[in-house]
Amino acid sequence: MIRLDQFLSRAGWGSRKEVKRLIRSGVVSVNGRMVREAAFKVAPGDRVEVSGKPVSFQEHRYFLLYKPRGYVTSTRDRLPTVMELLVGVSRTEKLFPVGRLDRDAEGALLVTDDGQLAHRLTHPKWKVPKVYLVEVEGEFSEELLPQFEEGIELSEGKTRPARARIVSRKENATLLEVILKEGRYHQIKRMFRALGFRVLNLKRVRFGPLTLEGLLPGEFRALNEEEISALR
Ligand code: URA
Repeated sequence: MIRLDQFLSRAGWGSRKEVKRLIRSGVVSVNGRMVREAAFKVAPGDRVEVSGKPVSFQEHRYFLLYKPRGYVTSTRDRLPTVMELLVGVSRTEKLFPVGRLDRDAEGALLVTDDGQLAHRLTHPKWKVPKVYLVEVEGEFSEELLPQFEEGIELSEGKTRPARARIVSRKENATLLEVILKEGRYHQIKRMFRALGFRVLNLKRVRFGPLTLEGLLPGEFRALNEEEISALR
Protein backbone atom coordinates (compact mmCIF):
# COMPACT_ATOMS: atom_id res chain seq x y z
CA MET A 1 0.00 0.00 0.00
CA ILE A 2 1.22 3.49 -0.75
CA ARG A 3 -0.16 6.97 -0.13
CA LEU A 4 -2.19 8.47 -2.96
CA ASP A 5 0.06 11.54 -3.26
CA GLN A 6 3.14 9.32 -3.44
CA PHE A 7 1.45 7.12 -6.05
CA LEU A 8 0.59 10.09 -8.28
CA SER A 9 3.98 11.67 -7.86
CA ARG A 10 5.77 8.46 -8.83
CA ALA A 11 3.43 8.09 -11.79
CA GLY A 12 4.72 11.43 -13.07
CA TRP A 13 1.91 13.78 -12.04
CA GLY A 14 4.26 16.23 -10.33
CA SER A 15 5.96 16.89 -7.01
CA ARG A 16 4.31 15.83 -3.75
CA LYS A 17 3.15 19.42 -3.28
CA GLU A 18 1.68 19.61 -6.77
CA VAL A 19 -0.16 16.30 -6.54
CA LYS A 20 -1.56 17.25 -3.11
CA ARG A 21 -3.11 20.30 -4.76
CA LEU A 22 -4.44 18.08 -7.54
CA ILE A 23 -6.03 15.70 -5.04
CA ARG A 24 -7.60 18.59 -3.10
CA SER A 25 -9.10 19.96 -6.32
CA GLY A 26 -11.33 16.87 -6.53
CA VAL A 27 -10.25 15.39 -9.88
CA VAL A 28 -8.70 12.22 -8.47
CA SER A 29 -10.71 9.04 -7.97
CA VAL A 30 -9.88 5.60 -6.66
CA ASN A 31 -12.06 2.71 -7.83
CA GLY A 32 -14.59 5.19 -9.14
CA ARG A 33 -14.92 7.31 -5.96
CA MET A 34 -13.49 10.78 -5.62
CA VAL A 35 -10.74 11.01 -3.00
CA ARG A 36 -9.56 14.33 -1.52
CA GLU A 37 -7.08 13.05 1.07
CA ALA A 38 -3.42 12.86 0.08
CA ALA A 39 -2.84 10.20 2.76
CA PHE A 40 -5.43 7.83 1.28
CA LYS A 41 -3.84 4.38 0.92
CA VAL A 42 -3.72 2.86 -2.55
CA ALA A 43 -3.65 -0.94 -2.62
CA PRO A 44 -2.32 -3.13 -5.45
CA GLY A 45 -5.00 -3.49 -8.11
CA ASP A 46 -6.79 -0.22 -7.20
CA ARG A 47 -7.93 1.82 -10.18
CA VAL A 48 -6.68 5.39 -9.84
CA GLU A 49 -7.92 8.04 -12.27
CA VAL A 50 -7.21 11.74 -12.80
CA SER A 51 -10.10 13.52 -14.53
CA GLY A 52 -11.38 10.11 -15.61
CA LYS A 53 -8.06 9.01 -17.14
CA PRO A 54 -6.41 5.89 -15.68
CA VAL A 55 -3.04 6.41 -14.02
CA SER A 56 -0.55 3.62 -14.34
CA PHE A 57 2.14 3.33 -11.77
CA GLN A 58 5.64 2.77 -13.08
CA GLU A 59 7.63 0.94 -10.48
CA HIS A 60 10.80 1.39 -12.49
CA ARG A 61 12.54 4.37 -14.05
CA TYR A 62 13.81 4.65 -17.60
CA PHE A 63 16.01 7.36 -19.11
CA LEU A 64 17.50 7.84 -22.53
CA LEU A 65 20.90 9.47 -22.36
CA TYR A 66 22.87 10.93 -25.25
CA LYS A 67 26.24 9.70 -24.08
CA PRO A 68 29.01 12.07 -25.10
CA ARG A 69 32.55 10.92 -25.85
CA GLY A 70 34.88 10.80 -22.86
CA TYR A 71 32.52 9.11 -20.40
CA VAL A 72 32.75 5.51 -19.25
CA THR A 73 29.61 3.33 -19.46
CA SER A 74 29.76 2.12 -15.90
CA THR A 75 28.22 2.90 -12.54
CA ARG A 76 31.62 3.41 -10.91
CA ASP A 77 35.04 4.26 -12.25
CA ARG A 78 37.97 6.50 -11.52
CA LEU A 79 37.12 8.26 -14.81
CA PRO A 80 33.89 10.23 -15.33
CA THR A 81 30.94 7.85 -15.75
CA VAL A 82 27.68 8.25 -17.63
CA MET A 83 25.85 8.24 -14.29
CA GLU A 84 27.38 11.63 -13.48
CA LEU A 85 25.38 13.10 -16.36
CA LEU A 86 22.03 12.32 -14.72
CA VAL A 87 21.95 15.64 -12.92
CA GLY A 88 18.87 16.10 -10.74
CA VAL A 89 17.83 12.45 -10.84
CA SER A 90 17.28 10.99 -7.38
CA ARG A 91 18.55 7.62 -6.16
CA THR A 92 20.98 7.23 -9.07
CA GLU A 93 22.69 4.43 -7.16
CA LYS A 94 19.76 2.20 -8.17
CA LEU A 95 20.21 2.93 -11.88
CA PHE A 96 22.55 1.32 -14.37
CA PRO A 97 23.24 1.57 -18.12
CA VAL A 98 21.86 -1.13 -20.42
CA GLY A 99 24.68 -2.51 -22.53
CA ARG A 100 27.71 -0.36 -23.14
CA LEU A 101 29.23 2.21 -25.40
CA ASP A 102 33.00 2.63 -25.43
CA ARG A 103 34.51 5.68 -23.79
CA ASP A 104 35.37 7.18 -27.18
CA ALA A 105 31.91 6.38 -28.63
CA GLU A 106 28.77 8.49 -28.32
CA GLY A 107 25.05 8.02 -28.71
CA ALA A 108 21.86 6.50 -27.38
CA LEU A 109 22.17 4.78 -24.03
CA LEU A 110 19.29 3.48 -21.95
CA VAL A 111 19.62 3.88 -18.18
CA THR A 112 17.18 2.12 -15.88
CA ASP A 113 16.67 0.24 -12.62
CA ASP A 114 14.65 -2.48 -14.36
CA GLY A 115 16.98 -5.48 -14.30
CA GLN A 116 14.56 -7.80 -16.03
CA LEU A 117 14.10 -5.52 -19.02
CA ALA A 118 17.84 -4.81 -19.20
CA HIS A 119 18.57 -8.52 -19.30
CA ARG A 120 16.08 -9.08 -22.09
CA LEU A 121 17.25 -6.10 -24.15
CA THR A 122 20.86 -7.20 -24.11
CA HIS A 123 20.12 -10.83 -24.92
CA PRO A 124 20.77 -11.61 -28.61
CA LYS A 125 17.67 -13.81 -28.68
CA TRP A 126 15.44 -10.72 -28.67
CA LYS A 127 17.32 -9.15 -31.58
CA VAL A 128 16.91 -5.53 -30.52
CA PRO A 129 18.32 -3.52 -33.45
CA LYS A 130 21.02 -1.02 -32.66
CA VAL A 131 21.92 1.44 -35.40
CA TYR A 132 25.43 2.91 -35.55
CA LEU A 133 27.03 5.57 -37.70
CA VAL A 134 30.61 4.51 -38.19
CA GLU A 135 33.36 6.57 -39.73
CA VAL A 136 36.29 4.47 -40.87
CA GLU A 137 39.66 5.47 -42.17
CA GLY A 138 40.21 5.05 -45.90
CA GLU A 139 38.01 4.04 -48.77
CA PHE A 140 35.63 1.27 -47.77
CA SER A 141 34.63 -0.85 -50.76
CA GLU A 142 30.96 -1.69 -51.52
CA GLU A 143 32.15 -5.21 -52.18
CA LEU A 144 32.80 -5.78 -48.50
CA LEU A 145 29.22 -4.98 -47.43
CA PRO A 146 27.76 -8.51 -47.87
CA GLN A 147 30.19 -9.74 -45.24
CA PHE A 148 28.12 -8.04 -42.55
CA GLU A 149 25.12 -10.13 -43.57
CA GLU A 150 27.19 -13.31 -43.80
CA GLY A 151 28.89 -12.79 -40.44
CA ILE A 152 32.44 -11.72 -39.68
CA GLU A 153 34.86 -14.04 -37.93
CA LEU A 154 35.95 -12.66 -34.55
CA SER A 155 38.14 -14.43 -31.98
CA GLU A 156 35.11 -15.92 -30.16
CA GLY A 157 33.20 -16.86 -33.32
CA LYS A 158 31.25 -15.46 -36.20
CA THR A 159 28.98 -12.46 -35.71
CA ARG A 160 25.24 -12.83 -36.30
CA PRO A 161 23.80 -11.36 -39.51
CA ALA A 162 24.11 -7.58 -39.51
CA ARG A 163 23.43 -4.92 -42.11
CA ALA A 164 25.72 -2.21 -43.43
CA ARG A 165 25.51 0.48 -46.08
CA ILE A 166 27.73 3.32 -47.14
CA VAL A 167 26.27 6.73 -46.23
CA SER A 168 28.95 9.03 -47.65
CA ARG A 169 32.60 9.34 -48.51
CA LYS A 170 35.12 12.04 -47.86
CA GLU A 171 38.82 12.30 -48.37
CA ASN A 172 40.42 9.28 -46.76
CA ALA A 173 37.32 8.31 -44.75
CA THR A 174 33.99 6.52 -45.29
CA LEU A 175 30.82 6.94 -43.26
CA LEU A 176 28.69 3.81 -42.90
CA GLU A 177 25.48 2.85 -41.17
CA VAL A 178 25.63 -0.51 -39.43
CA ILE A 179 22.69 -2.31 -37.80
CA LEU A 180 23.53 -4.95 -35.19
CA LYS A 181 21.14 -7.21 -33.33
CA GLU A 182 23.67 -8.33 -30.76
CA GLY A 183 26.20 -6.51 -28.62
CA ARG A 184 29.65 -7.97 -28.07
CA TYR A 185 32.60 -6.25 -26.55
CA HIS A 186 33.96 -3.60 -28.99
CA GLN A 187 31.94 -5.37 -31.66
CA ILE A 188 31.87 -2.68 -34.35
CA LYS A 189 35.54 -1.84 -33.97
CA ARG A 190 36.51 -5.50 -34.08
CA MET A 191 34.33 -6.21 -37.13
CA PHE A 192 35.94 -3.40 -39.06
CA ARG A 193 39.39 -4.37 -37.85
CA ALA A 194 38.76 -7.88 -39.19
CA LEU A 195 38.08 -6.30 -42.58
CA GLY A 196 41.25 -4.19 -42.34
CA PHE A 197 39.69 -0.87 -41.29
CA ARG A 198 40.14 1.41 -38.32
CA VAL A 199 37.11 3.12 -36.76
CA LEU A 200 37.63 6.86 -36.35
CA ASN A 201 34.21 7.79 -34.95
CA LEU A 202 31.35 5.75 -33.60
CA LYS A 203 27.87 6.95 -32.77
CA ARG A 204 24.81 4.89 -31.83
CA VAL A 205 21.89 6.72 -33.36
CA ARG A 206 19.17 4.26 -32.40
CA PHE A 207 18.62 1.70 -29.66
CA GLY A 208 15.52 -0.37 -30.48
CA PRO A 209 12.69 2.16 -30.80
CA LEU A 210 14.69 5.00 -29.18
CA THR A 211 16.43 7.68 -31.23
CA LEU A 212 18.50 10.68 -30.21
CA GLU A 213 15.99 13.14 -31.62
CA GLY A 214 15.71 16.27 -29.48
CA LEU A 215 18.77 15.50 -27.36
CA LEU A 216 22.24 17.03 -27.44
CA PRO A 217 25.37 15.21 -26.24
CA GLY A 218 25.22 14.94 -22.43
CA GLU A 219 21.46 15.47 -22.28
CA PHE A 220 18.90 12.91 -21.15
CA ARG A 221 15.16 12.55 -20.78
CA ALA A 222 12.72 10.19 -19.11
CA LEU A 223 10.97 7.76 -21.42
CA ASN A 224 7.23 8.11 -21.82
CA GLU A 225 4.70 5.29 -21.34
CA GLU A 226 4.57 4.50 -25.04
CA GLU A 227 8.33 4.16 -25.31
CA ILE A 228 8.49 1.94 -22.25
CA SER A 229 5.79 -0.32 -23.68
CA ALA A 230 7.63 -0.46 -27.00
CA LEU A 231 10.75 -1.75 -25.22
CA ARG A 232 8.89 -4.52 -23.43
N1 URA B 1 30.86 -1.45 -30.90
C1 URA B 1 32.03 -0.91 -30.47
O1 URA B 1 33.09 -1.26 -30.93
N2 URA B 1 31.97 0.01 -29.51
C2 URA B 1 30.81 0.47 -28.99
O2 URA B 1 30.83 1.34 -28.13
C3 URA B 1 29.62 -0.08 -29.45
C4 URA B 1 29.66 -1.05 -30.41
